Amino acid sequence: MKRPFVVAANWKMYKGPSEATAYLQEFLSHATTVPQTVSQTNKMNKVLFLVPAIDLWVVSQTLQGTAIGWGAQNCHFEKQGAFTGENSPAVIAELRTPYTLVGHSERRAIFGENDEMIAKKVRALQDVGIEPMLCVGETLAQREAGQTGDVIREQLREGLKLRVESKPFMVAYEPVWAIGTGKVASPQQANEAHQILRAELRHIGGDALAQSTPILYGGSVKPDNSAELAAQSEIDGFLVGGASLQVDSFLALARTKK
Ligand code: PEP
Repeated sequence: MKRPFVVAANWKMYKGPSEATAYLQEFLSHATTVPQTVSQTNKMNKVLFLVPAIDLWVVSQTLQGTAIGWGAQNCHFEKQGAFTGENSPAVIAELRTPYTLVGHSERRAIFGENDEMIAKKVRALQDVGIEPMLCVGETLAQREAGQTGDVIREQLREGLKLRVESKPFMVAYEPVWAIGTGKVASPQQANEAHQILRAELRHIGGDALAQSTPILYGGSVKPDNSAELAAQSEIDGFLVGGASLQVDSFLALARTKK
C-alpha cells in the first residue's frame, strides 16, 4: 500500500492571525509549483499547517477549498466544561479542521501531559472527525541508556489505547534531543526508530494498520537535510518546526520528493 508523504508545519507559539494570513497567501501563490498540493497530479502527498489555536479561524478561511490541510497543536479531551484556557475538540472541529497534533514533547515536558491524557485526546479528536497526529520520541538520556525502543513503543501503545479502530491517525517520531536543537537524527537512526514503530503498529492493529499509517520524522528538518531523510524506506513525511516559519524554506520542504 502506498502511503502519502506528509509535510506538516508546526508553528508552535509563533504568528498571529495577520502574519498567518500573509504567510499563507504567499505560500498559496507558489502552491501550483508544489506538486503535493495539486490533486490533479495524482500525487498522494499532503501539506498541512498546525497553528496556534487563535489562528484557526483565519487559517481555515484561507485554506478551505485548497488541497492544503490545517490543524491545532493541542486540545482538551472533553467537549466542554470548566477547563479555563483550554480548547475543545468539538470547537476545533466546527472550523472543519482536518488534523490536530497530540502529545508533542513540549506538551509532555513543559505542561505535564502523560500517556493517559494523550490517549483521551486521540479518542476525543477521532470522535469529532479530526485525524490526530500522535508524537512520540525519546530524550537524550533515554537514547544513551539504550531505552529508545522501549520508550517509543510504550508511548505509541499507550497513546493509541482508546483509539477508534476504524479511524485514521498519523504518527510523528520526534527524538526530543533533535527538536529545535539543530541536531538532526541520522537517516539511519530515524529509519530504525520508524521500523520499531511500524512493527509496534503491526502488533497493535495488524499489517493493514502498519502499512497504511504515515510515520513522519521531526527534529531539525531543513531543506539541506530533507532529501536523505526522505530517501529512507520508513519515513513518510516530516513534522517541521523552525524551518516552517519562513515561506521559502517550508516551500522547499513541501517540494520534497519521496
Ligand atoms: C517540532 O516542533 O515538532 C520540531 C520538529 O521542531 P524543529 O523542526 O524546530 O526541530
